[in-house]
Amino acid sequence: MMIFQLIQQLIHQAISVQLIERDDQIYVRNQLMSLWQLNEFREVDQIDKRELSIQDILDLMVQYACEKGIIEDIFDLKEMLSSKIMNCFVARPSTVNRIFYEKYQQSPDLATRYFYELSQNSNYIQMKRIRKNMDFQVTTEYGELDITINLSKPEKDPKSIELERAATTKKSDYPMCLLCAENEGYDGRIGHPARANHRMIRLNLVEENWLLQYSPYVYYNEHCIVLSEKHTDMKISKRTFMRLLTFVKKFPHYFLGSNADIPIVGGSILSHDHYQGGHFEFAMERAEVDWTFEMKGFTDVQCSVVKWPMSVIRIQSEQISSLVEAATHVLETWKKYSDEAVGIFAKTNQTPHNTITPIARKKGERFELDLVLRNNRTSEEHPLGIFHPHSDVHHIKKENIGLIEVMGLAVLPARLKQELAQVESFILGEENNVGEYHNDWANMLKEKYQRKANSTNIEELVRMEVGKKFLKGLEDAGVYKRSEEGMAGFKRFIATLS
Ligand SMILES: [Zn+2]
Repeated sequence: MMIFQLIQQLIHQAISVQLIERDDQIYVRNQLMSLWQLNEFREVDQIDKRELSIQDILDLMVQYACEKGIIEDIFDLKEMLSSKIMNCFVARPSTVNRIFYEKYQQSPDLATRYFYELSQNSNYIQMKRIRKNMDFQVTTEYGELDITINLSKPEKDPKSIELERAATTKKSDYPMCLLCAENEGYDGRIGHPARANHRMIRLNLVEENWLLQYSPYVYYNEHCIVLSEKHTDMKISKRTFMRLLTFVKKFPHYFLGSNADIPIVGGSILSHDHYQGGHFEFAMERAEVDWTFEMKGFTDVQCSVVKWPMSVIRIQSEQISSLVEAATHVLETWKKYSDEAVGIFAKTNQTPHNTITPIARKKGERFELDLVLRNNRTSEEHPLGIFHPHSDVHHIKKENIGLIEVMGLAVLPARLKQELAQVESFILGEENNVGEYHNDWANMLKEKYQRKANSTNIEELVRMEVGKKFLKGLEDAGVYKRSEEGMAGFKRFIATLS
C-alpha cells in the first residue's frame, strides 16, 4: 500500500509547487509506476496528512525501494533512483529554456528566480542537505567575513566507497567531467553523480554557446555556474573578461567571476572552462577603496586598489569595451611581472606563475571588474604555495583559496563541526580530546580566554578565532602584504601599468 500513497503524495506536492499541472497527473503516475515495476495502481483514499516535503517523500520512496530489493542500499544507487523519480516531473530542456526566456522578457530577475526554484523543487539542489551547513559571520577590519562549515555532503558507507574505487579504475569518459553539458539528464553511475533531473539554460556569450546551471551545493544565495558547451581548459584571457561582462549585462542582479587558470591558486576543476556567480554580496564587494590611480591610455576607466587582505585592483567604466581593454592590459602586464624584493617571480624554469582571479558586476550604469593578482610559486618553506594559506592555518583551511574564498566566504570541511566543539570544551576545562593538529591553537586560546570564556560565549569566541584563521589564510594568499613594504611593492606594479 505504502508506495501508492507515496506516489500520490509526491504528485500532490509537485502540483502545489507547479512542477507539473493537473493534466500531467496520470502520465507522471504511469512513469513513476514503471520505476517500481508496478502495472496497476490503487488509489489511496486517505493520503498522509503530515506535511511531507518533496525531499521527505523521496527519502521514503528510496527507502521502500531498498526494502523491497528493487535497488541495493548503496548511496549512489539511491541518488540515481531519486533523481530518476524527479525527472518524471521536470520538463525537457527545450521547454525549460522557452519558459526561462519568456520570463526574461519581463525581467532577468524573474527568469533566474524561476530557474532557481525549479532547480530546488526538482531536488537537483538538495536543500534538505544544504540546510545542515553551519553558517556564521565574523567581524574583521575588512568587514564581515562569511564562514560555512559544509555538512551537506553525506557520509558514504564503506561499501559505497569500495565500489566507487573499483568504478574509477574502469575509466569512463562519458561525461568527460562533472561540468560537461552531457550531464543534463544523465542517469549517473557509481562514482559519477545522478543528473537525470538536471537542466541547463542556453546562453550566448560573445558568439559562443555557454550554459547556465546552479551549483548543487549552493554555498550562497543563487550560486550559479556558467560553463562552456565544450570540455576545454580554464583560461583567463581577454575573452574571459568579455564573457563575464556580457553576462552581467544580461543578468545585472548577478555577479560572475572566474577561478584562476593554474593549480594552487585556481579552483578544483581546471579542465572545463567555467565561471561562478549568483545573487549575493560578498565582503570584498563591500570593501572600501584604499587608493585610486589613473592608467595611462584608459581615460574612461576608473581604477583603484581595494582595502582587502588579497591584492585587488578594481576598475570601473560605463563601456564594456574600455573595461575589457584595461583588464587585458593589467593581465598581460602582470603575467610578465617580477619583483624580487617582494618574492614575485613571473616564471621559474619556464613555468609561469602569475595570473588573475577576475570578478564582474554591474553597478547602476557602470560595469565593474575586480582583478585579484595571484601567483602560484612554491618554495621549500611553503611546498603548498608561497601565496597560499601557510602551515599555521592548515588545521582550519588547507585547500586552495579559490574564487569564493577570495571574495570572503570560507567553505570549511565537515570535520570542524566536531573538532571545534572539542576545542570549546577544552577551553572550558571540561575535557581534553582535541586533535593533535589543533593543539597549539587550543592551548593559545585557553590561555587567552580562560577567564573570559563561559558556556554561553564560548561558541562565539571560537568562531571569531576561526574567522581570524581564515583571514590569516587570505593574507597569506595575498601577493602584496598590507605592510609598508608590501604596499610599496603594489605601487611599483601599478606604476608599470602607465
Ligand atoms: Zn567537461
